Amino acid sequence: REPEGPKPIRKLSKDVINQIAAAEIIHRPANAIKELLENSLDAKSTSIKINLKDGGLKSIQIIDNGHGISKNDLPLLCERYSTSKLNKFEDLNSLKTYGFRGEALASISYVSHVEVVTKTKKDGCGWRAHYQDGVLIPSKSGTSAEPKPSAANDGTVITAEDLFFNMPLRKRAFKSPSEEYTRVLDVVTKYAIHNPHVAWVCKKAGTSLPDVSTPVDSTTKANIASLYSPSLANELLDIPLTTLQPESKLSAQCKGWVSNANSNWARKGGWLLFINNRLVDSTKIKKAIDSLYTAYLPKGASPWVYLSLDIDPAKIDVNVHPTKSEVHFLNEDEMIDALVGVIQTALSGANVSRSFSVQT
Ligand code: ADP
Ligand code: MG
Repeated sequence: REPEGPKPIRKLSKDVINQIAAAEIIHRPANAIKELLENSLDAKSTSIKINLKDGGLKSIQIIDNGHGISKNDLPLLCERYSTSKLNKFEDLNSLKTYGFRGEALASISYVSHVEVVTKTKKDGCGWRAHYQDGVLIPSKSGTSAEPKPSAANDGTVITAEDLFFNMPLRKRAFKSPSEEYTRVLDVVTKYAIHNPHVAWVCKKAGTSLPDVSTPVDSTTKANIASLYSPSLANELLDIPLTTLQPESKLSAQCKGWVSNANSNWARKGGWLLFINNRLVDSTKIKKAIDSLYTAYLPKGASPWVYLSLDIDPAKIDVNVHPTKSEVHFLNEDEMIDALVGVIQTALSGANVSRSFSVQT
């Protein structure tokens, strides 16, 4: 028998492409929440409320008081690569928003049922729209896909129901809604620490007691006290806004709060790194700081570290895949040395004051 020849190459349909991309971007409820809350922050919201059923698997709802979405933009809202935030590639060098690829809402609409209710300040009423696979669809009871006028407050309410309803394998892989809920809380808590000007609420739908709740115009330290623990907040060392040296090379500033050398909380540890306001990972930065602390902490203990690093956007590649949270930037080694130096100064300053207080 003749060996089988190659199968013909065919172009995937747009829907299959979008479905694959969506599954890459939205792995689990916590990814969807991160995208949605970043959109709310981009819309200049000062209040962001999140309600979840079954850890977000049954439903995710996010209510913000941001600038809303114009009715005219609703048809394109969930279409892939549709964004109000980027025009040309060079804009990436000066980007001030979280979003820019217009992939998040599209992806969410490919893996769940999406409803949007939104109102801008200048609109007399709000608009309600439903989406599936990137496009407007009629509501369950309706026949037309056109957005409908709706009572609404200024801002946007986005509801995503039945996550992964069309991906039975992925859906079955989620063993525990409470684990998903924990992951969501972790993301929301970290954004609340970094954005204390916003009032945050995160809770399970149907319960009255939120698991995250912060007042508007709070401070990072007050939010650490209420979301982690008052004793942790008390023991933290302030890293005031510091320009990293050499300035001309690094064009970066840092600030934050870090645990001191004898913090009780050190055993549990904590790691919150924001670069240009994005929650990111950097194995290199974490390693360097962990190793600095080994000189101060008992064996096996880890520090609690919140750092916010601002780097000239021209020196950092933001154009990474949305779920790839690991970032890289120019002059990485010098940057890390400078950062470690700043924390070391804070730590040794604290040591000095402690030994003084022992003597007096
Ligand atoms: P991106 O954030 O990359 O632009 P998204 O798919 O997350 O892409 O959102 C698409 C567009 O929808 C945004 O550019 C923005 O104009 C609008 N949008 C999304 N969420 C909100 C929101 N909560 N408030 C106001 N506008 C929003
Ligand atoms: Mg976005």
